Amino acid sequence: MKREELLRQLDSDTLWDMIVIGGGATGLGTAVEAASRGYRTLLLEQADFAQGTSSRSTKLIHGGVRYLQQGNLSLVLEALRERGLLIRNAPHLVHNQSFVVPLYDWWEGPFYGIGLKLYDVLAGKLGLGPSRLLSREEALQLIPTVEPHGLKGGVSYHDGQFDDARLAISLALTITDLGGVALNYLPVTGIIREDGLVTGVEARDRESGRGFRIRGRVVINAAGPFVDGVRQMVDPAAKELITPSQGVHLVLDGTFLPGESAIMVPHTDDGRVLFAVPWHGRTIVGTTDTPIPTATIEPRPLPEEIEFLLAHAARYLTRHPQRSDVLSVFAGIRPLVRSDAGSDTASLSRDHTLLVEGSGLVTIAGGKWTTYRKMGEDTVSAAAQVAGLDERPSVTGSLQIHGWQAGGEPTDPLQVYGSDRPGLEGLLAENPAWRERLHPALPYCLAQLVWGVRSEGARTVEDLLARRTRALLLDARASIASAPKVAELMAQELGQDRAWQETQVDAFSALARGYLLE
Ligand SMILES: Cc1cc2nc3c(=O)[nH]c(=O)nc-3n(C[C@H](O)[C@H](O)[C@H](O)COP(=O)(O)OP(=O)(O)OC[C@H]3O[C@@H](n4cnc5c(N)ncnc54)[C@H](O)[C@@H]3O)c2cc1C
Repeated sequence: MKREELLRQLDSDTLWDMIVIGGGATGLGTAVEAASRGYRTLLLEQADFAQGTSSRSTKLIHGGVRYLQQGNLSLVLEALRERGLLIRNAPHLVHNQSFVVPLYDWWEGPFYGIGLKLYDVLAGKLGLGPSRLLSREEALQLIPTVEPHGLKGGVSYHDGQFDDARLAISLALTITDLGGVALNYLPVTGIIREDGLVTGVEARDRESGRGFRIRGRVVINAAGPFVDGVRQMVDPAAKELITPSQGVHLVLDGTFLPGESAIMVPHTDDGRVLFAVPWHGRTIVGTTDTPIPTATIEPRPLPEEIEFLLAHAARYLTRHPQRSDVLSVFAGIRPLVRSDAGSDTASLSRDHTLLVEGSGLVTIAGGKWTTYRKMGEDTVSAAAQVAGLDERPSVTGSLQIHGWQAGGEPTDPLQVYGSDRPGLEGLLAENPAWRERLHPALPYCLAQLVWGVRSEGARTVEDLLARRTRALLLDARASIASAPKVAELMAQELGQDRAWQETQVDAFSALARGYLLE
């Protein structure tokens, strides 16, 4: 549906059953849940879908081996169940990824071997394949570039991998498929209250500057690291719920980790898990856990985070990555819910927290991408009670996500489109010139950009290069070089002029320079 048509739905005097603030994993999952239960659902995102944390993850749909180490079995169990459901409900976006834990000490074999067997048991019927102890030779066969010095063997196990921003876009399209409305570039600027109770929101279209007053039976705050800002729109004295923590990833060429398996290091110097994972032909290395004072939509990696990742990648890889090898670096903010565990965010819970305040505002925070569906389910059940809506059972455990298609190869660059692929191919029939590659270093053709504008709600060059395609993460330099071509194509589609193109290219280039190390 075109943006103008979606905006028209805000003009009417509609009383929405549920208004969701925030178009990241949590808000999108909540809105899919609400719309699939038949509630009239509106989702408002201030920037682009998944522009915050939800496009900056490690791209894993996982139980969390780290939480197993912490003994948080209920969280692992819940996440493993969600992993199993998601791989069924979005097979075009989530696939089975094999991991190897390299072992350099003899005690590690039984320790991690038993731990990962427990992981298999907890996954039960939804398991993705059994874990197994590997000899040194087998470990080297699976990860030819793992540091061989002192290597004793390994443990292999399975988890899920996905494309986070693409799942977010597919969830936004699922909301529309279910009759709901999801709009990007529509920040909520105020909360409407009558007699102290929340009855709607004020929002502003960032493109036209137009303001809207929108009525809802219940308002759900799913603003991720920004939930406290929304809560404070109702009560400026509301005590903060979130303690933000930043995580950084480096993107290296695929030759750093040839083969299909990923590396998982269960315990780094600062007690974190370190991953090196093949993704879209590149190698992603991450992550860090750095407490930060305030959340921003475009967090910047700190020099010490980059040094930490380069140094640790060098410990486990035969080829030691240099700054000049980094194709892109990106940072995201974990919306961790405060606990009394002190200021060390690495030990805070990733469990989600649902808060219903006296005003009726429902806030959902914490959790992780993997558990977005369960977070949505819990939130909508609570919100329906607040709104006095009739109770309806959840159906998302078996709801197919937009584009659902079984089979396919995760290495196929068009795999993420699933059943939308014929539409994309239709564009090639409309204009064979759109077959042209965007850039020799990027696996995208022009038709994907046109599709992003016409069918996936892209409004800016950044939307296309960062989230409809993942060009910015795969190669920041190549994405900057591509920006003028993208702007020209978008301008034709959206009826924009040359000045718009120049502004877009300047804005994108300035942003993308932050993803480069030199
Ligand atoms: C480094 C890192 C790695 C991670 N890796 C994994 C992983 O591999 N697997 C996994 O399962 N999880 C992972 N996570 C966790 C997961 O990414 C997050 O839990 C999840 O993305 C949070 O989603 P969210 O919707 O709560 O927040 P966000 O994605 O930040 O979304 C909140 C949205 O609300 C919008 N918003 C804010 N204020 C307003 C307003 N006033 N009006 C309208 N919209 C507003 C924002 O623009 C934003 O888009 C990782 C997190 C980090 C930081």
